[in-house]
Amino acid sequence: MADTRYPRDLHGYGRNPPDPRWPGGARVAVQFVVNFEEGGENNILHGDRASEAFLSDVLGAQPWPGKRHANIESMFEYGSRAGFWRLWRIFTERQLPTTVFGVATALKRSPQIVAAMKEAGWDIASHSLKWVEHKDMSEAEERAEIADAIRVHTEATGQRPLGWYTGRSSINTVKLVMEAGGFLYSCDSYADDLPYWIKGPAGPHLIIPYTLDTNDMRFVNAQGFGGYGGFSPSASCRPPCLVSRPRCNAIRRLSPP
Ligand SMILES: [Zn+2]
Repeated sequence: MADTRYPRDLHGYGRNPPDPRWPGGARVAVQFVVNFEEGGENNILHGDRASEAFLSDVLGAQPWPGKRHANIESMFEYGSRAGFWRLWRIFTERQLPTTVFGVATALKRSPQIVAAMKEAGWDIASHSLKWVEHKDMSEAEERAEIADAIRVHTEATGQRPLGWYTGRSSINTVKLVMEAGGFLYSCDSYADDLPYWIKGPAGPHLIIPYTLDTNDMRFVNAQGFGGYGGFSPSASCRPPCLVSRPRCNAIRRLSPP
C-alpha cells in the first residue's frame, strides 16, 4: 500500500493520460521559450559574492570571490547585445508565439529589449529576481526574493508575471510561488509530458513541465551537444516522437549566455 505521508507524486497520470484536446485537434503543442538572463547573473556589481560560473564557454569556470570576470561578463553581454536580437528576428519573422523566461533584474537593465518583447506580444514569465541558486535560501529569504521578483518584473514590463520558472529552485519554491498568488502557471518541474494540476493554498495550480534535454545549456555541459548538428536533431526530433500520443512538450532555447 502506498505511503500517504510520502510527499512526492511518483504516479501522475499513470497508464491512461487524458486527451488534452489541443486547439484545432492538434496532436502536439510546442512551447518556445527564450530565456533572458543577461545582467541578472552573479556579479559583484550586483551585490553578489563572486563572479558567475554556472553556464559559460569558459571550461571549468569557477566563481571568483570578490572579483569580476571580464570574459564571462562579455559572454553574457553577447546575449543581450546580439543573441537576443537574432532570436527575436527568427521568432517574429515567423510570427511564432513565444514565452520569455525573464530574470527580473535582467529585464530591468534592458528596457529596449523589454519593449521589443512587448511589441511582439510575447508572454513574459518570471525567471526569478536574479539568475542564482535558491537551494540555500531560508524559506523567509526565498519568499522575499519571489516578492521582489514580482515587483521588479512589474516595474520593468508594466505588467505582473503570470508564469514562473526559477530554474535552480529549492524544495520550497513551488509552494512559495503558489502562496505568492496571481500566477496562471509555473514550470519548476520535469515530471511529465502533459501539464498537470497540483493543489495550492488558493485552489488548483497549473504546472507546465520544463525539460532540459532540448535546452541549449547542453552546448557547455558534459553529454551535451557537440555542435548545431547535435542540437537540431534532438530538438526537431521531439514533436514527431510525441505525435504517437497526444501530449504537450516544449522545445526550449536559452538566449546564449
Ligand atoms: Zn535560465
